[in-house]
Amino acid sequence: MNEIQLTEVSKKLKSIIRSVPNFPKDGIVFRDITTLLKDKEAFKLAVDTFYQKYKDIKIDKVVSVESRGFIFGSILAYLLGAGFVPIRKPGKLPAEKIRQEYQLEYGTDAMEVHADAIKPGEKVLVHDDLLATGGTVSAACKLIERLGGEVVGICFLIELSFLNGRERLKNYDIFSIIQYN
Ligand code: IMP
Repeated sequence: MNEIQLTEVSKKLKSIIRSVPNFPKDGIVFRDITTLLKDKEAFKLAVDTFYQKYKDIKIDKVVSVESRGFIFGSILAYLLGAGFVPIRKPGKLPAEKIRQEYQLEYGTDAMEVHADAIKPGEKVLVHDDLLATGGTVSAACKLIERLGGEVVGICFLIELSFLNGRERLKNYDIFSIIQYN
């Protein structure tokens, strides 16, 4: 897909995202992807766009962050012939796991992945629905790298460009379909 086609796709999909003011708190405009997910053509277009981007790259695992990241992440893993690895909130995964803490606006949070989820040297594509400050995916990449995985790309449906999450992830190859400036 060339730049012009991608701009067209981006415009079309952006028009279907619902923006909800003051959710989850005052002053935040929440970008709600459920309006895109329920539209069969838009949903397919988004999946196909991710697939086109990565179909010629060797990918062993697709890793996604709970919970909206699982929607496209698992489909992409299937299409790319890769395994799927969930990163979850603490206390959800049953077997031996490793944990990564990360900064929130106020305080810290943590996420976990099974210790046997990725083998050293495996090529990993990371997916989340939305890039804001980059804290979530940056912590996910740390978990992957602690297990010896190599992050070969990170993709998002939406990027809130004005929050400069890309800067925090500057060592990685980032792809987003829709941007908000
Ligand atoms: P970050 O860690 O600041 O990049 O925040 C990204 C995380 O926050 C992602 O996992 C998103 O699911 C979630 N998030 C932040 N803002 C929104 C939004 O407007 N819509 C949907 N998810 C959001």
